[in-house]
Amino acid sequence: MKVLSVNAGSSSLKFQLYEMPEENVLMKGVFERIGLEGSFYTLKIQGEKIKKEAPLPSHEDAVAILIQELLSNQMISSLEEIKGIGHRVVHGGSKYKGSCLITEEVLKDIEEFFPLAPLHNPANLIGIQAFMKNIPNAIEVACFDTAFHQTMEEERFLYALPYEWYEKYGVRKYGFHGMSHQYVSRRASELLDKKFSNIIVCHLGNGGSVSAVRDLKCVDTSMGFTPNAGIVMGSRSGDIDYSILPYIMKQTGKSIEELDTILNKQSGMYAISGISSDFRDIEEKIAEKDRRAIMAHYLFVNSVVSYIAKYYVELGGADAICFTAGVGENSPHVRNMIMKRLSCLGVKMDRDKNEELRFGKEGVISTPDSSITCFVIPTDEEVMIARDTYEFSK
Ligand code: AMP
Repeated sequence: MKVLSVNAGSSSLKFQLYEMPEENVLMKGVFERIGLEGSFYTLKIQGEKIKKEAPLPSHEDAVAILIQELLSNQMISSLEEIKGIGHRVVHGGSKYKGSCLITEEVLKDIEEFFPLAPLHNPANLIGIQAFMKNIPNAIEVACFDTAFHQTMEEERFLYALPYEWYEKYGVRKYGFHGMSHQYVSRRASELLDKKFSNIIVCHLGNGGSVSAVRDLKCVDTSMGFTPNAGIVMGSRSGDIDYSILPYIMKQTGKSIEELDTILNKQSGMYAISGISSDFRDIEEKIAEKDRRAIMAHYLFVNSVVSYIAKYYVELGGADAICFTAGVGENSPHVRNMIMKRLSCLGVKMDRDKNEELRFGKEGVISTPDSSITCFVIPTDEEVMIARDTYEFSK
């Protein structure tokens, strides 16, 4: 059975076509600069990469071209072959605790959550509507980034703020990157061959979050009401003392919107290093002993380690610590810094394995006598979407 996994952004649309239940990726691609000048798309079919320029005034135009490409590349012989389309939806509020079939009610809810995810949910909805129109026979499934974290208890997700802010306005911790945390914690439990286990997942990408997972259920996570909480990120500040904001507003006359942009786009590694939000650029400068690049790494590592320590205690010990996403999967330097700091817990790194496991390789980077098994597990949010969609399409 063929299933599409879709991730629609405001000006982009990523997809993967799967043969299920084998989980074979038949074709994948991304449409970029939708609604802008200079739009184009790239496709990957059996290892071959194709790039084409094309006007893409809307997401619907991108979906129309996608269908053409699927047909002309003989991925499908008719649209009827696509049984299910799974969509990544960033925010499912407190309501959605798992993926679900998209109905009128779900569409309304996604819209109702716009204020909670103003950059993402509108784009996700546009993507869903474009597919509903162009491939009407397929079922559509919404896979929420927040759903995996819905098992958090009130004492973990509430902020110590007026209770009516929670009741009236939904102010609480939601957590994000849910499909990644779910995929990686499941995979770690498989590799440990232990369903009942305590796992700490470090999703360290341009955005980053750490989560505590007990018996495959999320107990706590570092992102909060928005993705700007928790660890230091590429260009997001992570946790700060909120009182900095009124202080800086008074000092500079900047508006709250300007500060929001600064906190999300001009903070984090970018701000401290003064170089870039990309860890590769910063690591290059570390090799040249650049003081601010080194400082940025320390800040980052400190924030990750503080969450691992917190979750180690919250879980009452850990069977595994997992590294995933761009930095977690590819930077032995960052993993080394983090694991060294965990030596007080009895964590021991296997140097060769740590150097070896990069660029999509999965495995253990701790020694056999390490108190906690440390894994590198390349994340796969797309396959989680495809699996959930397949379950509804069967
Ligand atoms: P993601 O958001 O998961 O796509 O991760 C993107 C981040 O991964 C970027 O900030 C890159 O700096 C980082 N990254 C990718 N490859 C490497 C690498 N080889 N070494 C260090 N960081 C990397």
